[in-house]
Amino acid sequence: MSKLPHISTSIFTVMSKMAAEHNAINLSQGFPNFPVDERLTTIVAKLAKENVHQYTPMSGYPPLLSKIVTLVKKSYGRTLQADTELLITAGATQAIFTTILALVKTNDEVLILDPSYDCYEAPVLLCNANPVRVALNDDYTPNWEIIEKACTPKTKMIIINNPHNPTGKILKQSDFESLEILLEKYPDILVLSDEVYEYITFEEKHISAHTRKKLLNRCVMISSFGKSFHVTGWKVGYLVAPEYLMKEIKKVHQFLVFSVNSICQVAISDYLDLVSVDEIGKFYQEKRDYFRQLLKDSRFKLMPCEGTYFQVASYAAISNENDVDFCKHLIVEHGVAAIPISTFYDDGKDLKLIRFCFAKDNATLEEAAKRLCAI
Ligand code: PMP
Ligand code: GLN
Repeated sequence: MSKLPHISTSIFTVMSKMAAEHNAINLSQGFPNFPVDERLTTIVAKLAKENVHQYTPMSGYPPLLSKIVTLVKKSYGRTLQADTELLITAGATQAIFTTILALVKTNDEVLILDPSYDCYEAPVLLCNANPVRVALNDDYTPNWEIIEKACTPKTKMIIINNPHNPTGKILKQSDFESLEILLEKYPDILVLSDEVYEYITFEEKHISAHTRKKLLNRCVMISSFGKSFHVTGWKVGYLVAPEYLMKEIKKVHQFLVFSVNSICQVAISDYLDLVSVDEIGKFYQEKRDYFRQLLKDSRFKLMPCEGTYFQVASYAAISNENDVDFCKHLIVEHGVAAIPISTFYDDGKDLKLIRFCFAKDNATLEEAAKRLCAI
């Protein structure tokens, strides 16, 4: 008997495979296709010959921990205790899984705001707990009244994803105020704040849970160097949690992975001396603007995009078929892969929306746009 009867192969795997089979331009799964910064690959080549190939301490390579402390201080003014509040993880996926496994118990409820990224539900189910899916408003802002109505004495955790995959929305000051009012009424609820795109925001600056004093003692904040340094395959991320939660999280982490890929941790640590994360928002803002400009005469209607490297588009003016079928036809007949937005909803709501990833070199974006404009 399956422990996860309703979970199937991730849509990102399905669409990337189909894109490869049909030699389509892959704007589906979120990953950059341009070369990694040469300074980073040079560091890796140099490190390969050094003594960096054995286990790091369980919590992470100590110089990397110190540099994250400096980064968080510089970005958000928060002073972290490296030894008790910080943990390097095998990407954000493992951070999320480990956090849920460590903190959620049988019959607890975990609020997930739909549309939602795909990796939250399975660990909740494996804890014999209940995912409670709550719809965001039509403009993808959280509806705090509905969220509050969904809270019960069993609610253990609310998961927020900011900036938001797939919609590119970012949470506003007023959202945090509403969240904090709600948390005052429910003192046992924890927050898992998935901020993997924290440095990829555009006109408006990202508001991190790190900056919310009322959240700090009950929030696990998660980030990923895969997004910030264009190395999604390295799977190096981190989580920040107050000491009493971190103690529990580390109990799980030590038996799930023990420690994370040493050479990549050292490389990121050395690279952090050379780069500023401030550059990445501007970099992707230019990509977003370029992609939107290229599609302006197409029949796709582009939704607003405040952050992340995803652009949601409506194809309602083109076709009436459901979004999964539309994406399949898009690959087979037009040579472009995208992600159907219905897969981010519990009930598969079909809104005739699809998601494009614009973390691609300009030539790829141009060719994709040429094909999309011809539809
Ligand atoms: N959360 C969100 C919102 C994501 O988009 C992703 C990956 N794209 C992850 C978590 C997982 O990140 P990682 O690849 O570092 O595991
Ligand atoms: N997070 C990536 C996306 O949203 C996918 C990562 C994966 O395939 N697990 O496209």
